[in-house]
Amino acid sequence: MLDPFGRRISYLRVSVTDRCDLRCTYCMAEDMTFLPKAKVLTLEEIDRLCGAFVSLGVERIRLTGGEPLVRRGVLSLFRSLGARIGDGLKELTVTTNGSQLAKMADDLFAAGVRRINVSMDTLDPATFTAVTRWGKLEQTLDGIFAAKAAGLQVKINAVALRGVNDGEYDRLLAWCGQYGFDLTLIETMPMGEISADRTDYYLPLSEVRRDLSRRWTLTPSAHATGGPARYYDVAETGQRLGVITPMTHNFCESCNRVRLTCTGTLYMCLGQEDAADLRAPLRDPELGDVGLRDAILSAISRKPRGHDFVIGRNAGPAVSRHMSVTGG
Ligand code: SAM
Ligand code: SF4
Repeated sequence: MLDPFGRRISYLRVSVTDRCDLRCTYCMAEDMTFLPKAKVLTLEEIDRLCGAFVSLGVERIRLTGGEPLVRRGVLSLFRSLGARIGDGLKELTVTTNGSQLAKMADDLFAAGVRRINVSMDTLDPATFTAVTRWGKLEQTLDGIFAAKAAGLQVKINAVALRGVNDGEYDRLLAWCGQYGFDLTLIETMPMGEISADRTDYYLPLSEVRRDLSRRWTLTPSAHATGGPARYYDVAETGQRLGVITPMTHNFCESCNRVRLTCTGTLYMCLGQEDAADLRAPLRDPELGDVGLRDAILSAISRKPRGHDFVIGRNAGPAVSRHMSVTGG
């Protein structure tokens, strides 16, 4: 699957639900309205759509959300997708807030998942509860250690938030090193209305990286995923530091991914509004698998060159949907 700019599309991110058990301040408004259940694809439909993508060359699938692990029955989707590993699919991963991991980590491993990303912006319990509006750090930590014990390789994602966790990056890097986790820092992206102004939180990671490199030996790493992260090897810990800087660094030229929402809408770019509806072809009995594949190929032929994110005071979000719709 090649897009108009010759980029090979081999990575699909699937938001399996827009719902979440937390309300991180930079991600959602406190009184978010979620989609009515009737609009959401069944897990069997998501599996069939993913199968069509795999038959067209997608090699990696990441389930995300909202919080993917709060969707009822989601383990059955992990199992059906996991069964595709080796048959076109090379890897099945998940991005989660970790709240359900303590009870699900073993099942995820059994389904074929080997690597997971867990979002945790702070190691301070009070800050964690403030950022997530009601989350408990201990629950996420229990989840992270259950995942490690289950044999899953864990990467920690933290959004860099000025005035919230900006004194903590050394501690996070050291903590991740202690337990053998990579750490990725993410700049806030202007997606969806939230109650606060994101300009207040926005912290350019170029600054953070310069500051960290005074105390840590950071060497640019050859590791690349075709995504927005740039990686550094951290000599002192032997782990990697990833930095996602959509605002200060344009990563679009090597983009290999598209994003599917839980209603069957395919976004060809995280930072653009253009989308393709795959639910209609999926549900059209006349079309079958060939028609579904044609609909996917036609969407890929419209993948834009890149995003137009800008964070400015009073500028409003660059795209109106929340990150929880497309899953980041
Ligand atoms: N609930 C899961 C979690 O938190 O990992 C998966 C979905 S969440 C939307 C995926 C990632 O997007 C998380 O790491 C989260 O911190 C990040 N995120 C959410 N809103 C963001 C924003 N406006 N800018 C940058 N990152 C954001
Ligand atoms: Fe939920 Fe993840 Fe958004 Fe936080 S970042 S509100 S955990 S979807």
